[in-house]
Amino acid sequence: MPSPQRLAVLQTIQQRQPIATPPAQKLDELWCQDVFSLEKMKAALPKEIFKSVQRTIKEGSKLDVSVANVVAQAMKEWATARGALYYSHVFYPLTNTTAEKHDGFISPQGDGTAITEFTGKVLVQGEPDGSSFPNGGIRSTFEARGYTAWDITSPAWLMETPNGVTLCIPTVFVSWTGEALDKKTPLLRSNAAVNKQANRLLKMLGESEIAPINSSCGAEQEYFLIDSAYVPLRPDLLLAGRTLFGKPSAKGQQFDDHYFGAIPERVQVFMQEVERQMYRLGIPAKTRHNEVAPSQFEIAPFFEAANVATDHQQLTMTILRSTAKKHGLACLLHEKPFAGINGSGKHVNWSIGNATQGNLLDPGQTPHENLQFLLFCGAVIRGIHLYGPLLRAVIATASNDHRLGANEAPPAIISVYLGSQLEDVFTQIREGRLSGSSIGGVMNFGVDTLPEFDKDAGDRNRTSPFAFTGNRFEFRAVGSNQSVAGPLVSLNTILADSLGWIADHLEPRLAAGESVESASLAVLQQVMEQHGNVIFGGNGYSEEWHRMAVEERGLENLRTTADALPVLARPAIRELFERTGVLTPVELQSRFEVYAEQYILAIEVEAKLAVQIARTQVYPAAMRYLGELAESLKLQSSLGMEVSPETSRQVASFCQQLMDLSGQLQTALDQAPHGTEAHLRHCADTLVPLMDQLRTSVDGLETLVDDNLWPLPSYQEMLFVR
Ligand code: ADP
Ligand code: MG
Repeated sequence: MPSPQRLAVLQTIQQRQPIATPPAQKLDELWCQDVFSLEKMKAALPKEIFKSVQRTIKEGSKLDVSVANVVAQAMKEWATARGALYYSHVFYPLTNTTAEKHDGFISPQGDGTAITEFTGKVLVQGEPDGSSFPNGGIRSTFEARGYTAWDITSPAWLMETPNGVTLCIPTVFVSWTGEALDKKTPLLRSNAAVNKQANRLLKMLGESEIAPINSSCGAEQEYFLIDSAYVPLRPDLLLAGRTLFGKPSAKGQQFDDHYFGAIPERVQVFMQEVERQMYRLGIPAKTRHNEVAPSQFEIAPFFEAANVATDHQQLTMTILRSTAKKHGLACLLHEKPFAGINGSGKHVNWSIGNATQGNLLDPGQTPHENLQFLLFCGAVIRGIHLYGPLLRAVIATASNDHRLGANEAPPAIISVYLGSQLEDVFTQIREGRLSGSSIGGVMNFGVDTLPEFDKDAGDRNRTSPFAFTGNRFEFRAVGSNQSVAGPLVSLNTILADSLGWIADHLEPRLAAGESVESASLAVLQQVMEQHGNVIFGGNGYSEEWHRMAVEERGLENLRTTADALPVLARPAIRELFERTGVLTPVELQSRFEVYAEQYILAIEVEAKLAVQIARTQVYPAAMRYLGELAESLKLQSSLGMEVSPETSRQVASFCQQLMDLSGQLQTALDQAPHGTEAHLRHCADTLVPLMDQLRTSVDGLETLVDDNLWPLPSYQEMLFVR
């Protein structure tokens, strides 16, 4: 029988009913209800003004203040008609979170009355006191000015609470000296960098009409849902978002009965409310299903422009968390809430394209498009090979370390999966024999006649961190709790860099009169000779690959965040970001500092919690049990029964270990070294292993101590009772 506190929780859960929400609405009523969409702008703005806004959004032309004034007026009228009294500049600091500062529309008049007011200047620019946001030393607190500036390319929306709505305006966040303090600014810059280099290359391929090129993103979000009543009884879930202790449940995911199984009703009701809110905010929720682990689920939208998708992804995480609360559930976005079963990732599907040439990573049907595809795909291959460690660094967090390298998620070694057909094509390019021969009767190659690919020909590879999936790449190593901005910025930047390199190498050949085809294939061959090593189609989990990748292919295996983050300080990375205009050296350095600090803080919070839970919850329960055992042994021997003190000995031994290890952990916490890199290493090499060892004694005790005395809700309860 569970302890009384746990029993009370289980009884609460037993009585839960699915929470009915308002009657279902049709999509066209829901869609963009809470968004100041282009459609709403078109209706509200004078024709010329609307055209100017459209030009800014679609072509990136400069936003005029006089235009902003008119838009602000219309936006305010729309929002206040819906009951908004406040507006908020929403921005995305380096902490993976979303930040807001709220201001009232109110403007008191001299005569005691008040009106609402909202000018173009206020729409376009805000000045929150940014001093409390981590900035990695870009500014000291005495010069804490930070500015938010309206990002017109992402629509404004209304955030609704039971007591009204707030107008939310997506913004970038920069310092007084103009440095990016957020995740949106570099994303916009990286898009511009890709646009510039892709444009250059397309022109060389003979294109004359080239619409602005943008990156796209569709992010699949995995998450766990457990009943919220467990959380107050688990300080680790409450403060660290994951369980630091817990013996495995007898049944886990070994039956594979959860994946794509029937969605439990309570969860489905939750999902439907989430989707409805997403539709109101113009977020195109598209798929939902059970994931591999018990109580694990996934939601994925239809892809959008990377910048908008990123804002929408942040909103999705907020909606998941807040809606769960309403339904008596806790949505766990941590990458590894429970040991021993799958963790959660966020697959970032990414491509680039535009309105005139379409998706530039679509293999397509016509030879001309294929040549284009091969060059863009080759650029990706080169980028991933040169900057794989960067991709590892931008997904490095304390929580994602539990996935990467563990036997369920992509490994920490960044390789590219192309699928057998494409891998074959690129192998031929490497060997310089892409010359009119047909392979397996499927593809017909000639200098002029490049192959036709079967789009679904590429198989799936769940063990690759970075896989081509038909017409896009899927970066599968991103953590469930992360902003997708960092990965997208890096992908765009390395692509821009490689497209630039390819263009630089095509240029002299074309100038010398070589045909586009032959020049392209020659450059691609060079790419493959230098970088083809990054392509891997086998099992990414295997030990063989871990050895081969490092020893034979020269790829890096950066196991922990402490290994990966220092990559950001490498000269090659600094030059990459500077050359492409995406991040200045100061901005990059600040990112290293902030991410390192986040890692250190996360590990230290966990270590403190581990000591606290072990000493104040687990140890007392175990000692009480030991006392009970002693009493009963005494009784047994007084009755002349044969006594077996084995359990007592085991409990006592685990208790001893628990006290020793928690003591060591506390000491290690108190002896943190100075200097960021040393501190990172201390966390990864000392604190994490000590926590793992401490876990062994605590979980050992859970297998022995009377369930009636055990204070923490068990894995079995949390994962299976809802
Ligand atoms: P799977 O789980 O099989 O990978 P999903 O349908 O769950 O597939 O997710 C695929 C994601 O990829 C969706 O968000 C989809 O919109 C997105 N996607 C499709 N095409 C592109 C593209 N060109 N650029 C970016 N994302 C894309
Ligand atoms: Mg996927």
